[in-house]
Amino acid sequence: MPDYVKELMASVRQNNPGEVEFHQAVEEIAASVALVYEQYPEYQAAKIFERMIEPERVIMFRVPWMDDQGEIRINRGFRVEMNSAIGPYKGGLRFHPSVNLSSLKFLALEQTFKNSLTHLPLGAGKGGADFNPKGRSDHEIMRFCQSFMNELYRYIGPNTDVPAGDIGVGGREIGYLFGQYKKLKNEFTGVLTGKGLEWGGSLIRPEATGFGVVYFAGEMLKTRGEQLKGKRVAVSGFGNVAWGVALKLNELGAKVITLSGPDGYILDEDGVSGDKITTMVRLRSSNNDVIAPYAEAHSGARFFAGKRPWEQPCDIAIPCAIQNELNADDAASLIENKCICVCEGANMPCTLDAVHALQKAELLFAPGKAANAGGVAVSGLEMSQNAMKMNWSREEVDSRLKEIMQAIHATCFKYGKQDSGFVDYVNGANIGGFLKVANAMMDQGVV
Ligand code: NDP
Repeated sequence: MPDYVKELMASVRQNNPGEVEFHQAVEEIAASVALVYEQYPEYQAAKIFERMIEPERVIMFRVPWMDDQGEIRINRGFRVEMNSAIGPYKGGLRFHPSVNLSSLKFLALEQTFKNSLTHLPLGAGKGGADFNPKGRSDHEIMRFCQSFMNELYRYIGPNTDVPAGDIGVGGREIGYLFGQYKKLKNEFTGVLTGKGLEWGGSLIRPEATGFGVVYFAGEMLKTRGEQLKGKRVAVSGFGNVAWGVALKLNELGAKVITLSGPDGYILDEDGVSGDKITTMVRLRSSNNDVIAPYAEAHSGARFFAGKRPWEQPCDIAIPCAIQNELNADDAASLIENKCICVCEGANMPCTLDAVHALQKAELLFAPGKAANAGGVAVSGLEMSQNAMKMNWSREEVDSRLKEIMQAIHATCFKYGKQDSGFVDYVNGANIGGFLKVANAMMDQGVV
């Protein structure tokens, strides 16, 4: 580990005690920034990365609400406004019991690099609450969203901070949040993305993250003369990102052989396609956090309780569930089974050890900040459509998304290609993402 990274991490650990996910994200990026600092000492003198890892603003607030039994519940809400050097803060809201300052700071930092890579004018933020929507009625979800917005509305706006969905926040929640914002501010603006099509949403937004991941994987394969058609793909999760990935992989002729939930994973050698994708969406929206019923509904599928899909032989692995769901042991079995590509659909699903092992074995490995940027990119396109009061067609949005993913790949390739020919996509994404924000911060002075 370079001295710069060691010293930085010592102070990050001291100043942010217990924030392990945040430490992990800073350490991964710092290794790439050390290379930039060596070449361009002016960034180090201006303490650009040291400033980037300190959020511009953190808002923490009480979210009181009443459940259907009349009992008062209290959750904690957050918005981390991380960086506004290249545009208004932009990033999702997550409603999940695991939400805390550490996980949101890690996600907001990743978002800084991701949004920069899209080449759109998007700053970075992330927010949410430690609220568990599982098993809650529609009315409870609505009351919670309204209470959350009763505080958040003070800090957001179409030119200030534009939140979107993430885990636990989909179209329904965005609707309730938008409705409350509109009531409080008495204005109809593009303050949130992921909106319904009838009131300012963009076509393809729900599928965009998954579609973008697949476009990125396709670009990586091309660098080795390979293509997606005919490949066996292990996918984890069965939420929004996994859904988009499954749709696009099927369209491009690849076979999805696994899906997973917190209860385990299913293996479907016939491929998760057609109506089976509908089964997955139905299971997801049923509010039960289990994938097992997929195997009961489809005779060719088998369920493996408490296990992860990475033990199955596959050509490509696309983790789409949650952070740190693919560890060094999982990486070892993928390598042993001759997997050629691991493309992160979720944010930081691979542990640092796993990433190092995959790169050492020279697999194609793409970090989420590059590969899953399609979601925020189409959110950026939604903002443009709102500003112009226009709606683009499905084909237009999809083709812009594809171009953006190809451009992100090109940036990662440019900054990640080593003399040996191996492409280090982690370095490529970190350096490419860093430079744009760093240059803007240099131009804007010490603020
Ligand atoms: P969802 O909540 O729709 O899906 C997450 C999926 O993972 C669910 O199926 C969930 O099951 C499952 N899951 C949760 N924990 C585990 C576990 N331990 N093992 C296996 N599966 C698990 O979220 P998204 O699909 O929207 O997001 C997934 C990831 O992608 C997150 O890291 C998110 O930050 C990232 N991402 C999402 C974007 C988007 O546009 N939605 C954009 C960029 C990144 P269950 O709900 O039953 O727990």
